[in-house]
Amino acid sequence: MAQRDAEFIRRWLEAAAEAVARDASRLTELDSAIGDADHGSNMRRGFAAVVATLADQPPTDPGGTLRVAGRTLISTVGGAAGPLYGTLLRSAGKALGDDPVVDDERLAEALRAGVDGVASLGGAAVGDKTMVDALLPAVSALPDYPAARQAAEEGAAATVPLRARKGRASYLGDRSTGHLDPGAASSALLIGALADAAAA
Ligand code: ADP
Ligand code: MG
Ligand code: MG
Repeated sequence: MAQRDAEFIRRWLEAAAEAVARDASRLTELDSAIGDADHGSNMRRGFAAVVATLADQPPTDPGGTLRVAGRTLISTVGGAAGPLYGTLLRSAGKALGDDPVVDDERLAEALRAGVDGVASLGGAAVGDKTMVDALLPAVSALPDYPAARQAAEEGAAATVPLRARKGRASYLGDRSTGHLDPGAASSALLIGALADAAAA
């Protein structure tokens, strides 16, 4: 089983930053249908800050890298997604402690703890039409990275017919149906970036 170090986490988050920058206008369009049209700019700003912070003062262990990244998202992104993704990374980082390398099973467990953190902060379960719909099946499939990518994409696509029960989109009630949830779409990008980092 592959061993993962701080450099691996940094490559993942850099790939995630590239993906959200590339797809920022699509994420904002999705958020304009059922939210306030800022998800792409929120994500782009937050992940650019993560990349800058990690380049400036790179922690030497994967847990520390995740904790710094999470803290950066929380402090730079207003709106729901910043604290939620920040909690995902911070809780995962806490679960890893300060070990210099971790294996894929340990990283998978840490990311599951991260998604638990998201669910308890936001109170969302699968089916509520949020990022949890993509994240939970994805981390359940880890450490099979290609399966996690597929699960995230399918989980995101499955939000289209759902009625939102959490977040801003829930204010729309039945009018939130028929649209892809923006946070589930960005989660699929983050998991795709993780799978890319693992395949590199
Ligand atoms: P805001 O809604 O504050 O403008 P964003 O547009 O950046 O924040 O993020 C919206 C996304 O955040 C939603 O598409 C959804 O996936 C996610 N989200 C919102 N509230 C919750 C929640 N309580 N639990 C989980 N995810 C949530
Ligand atoms: Mg928004
Ligand atoms: Mg907003």
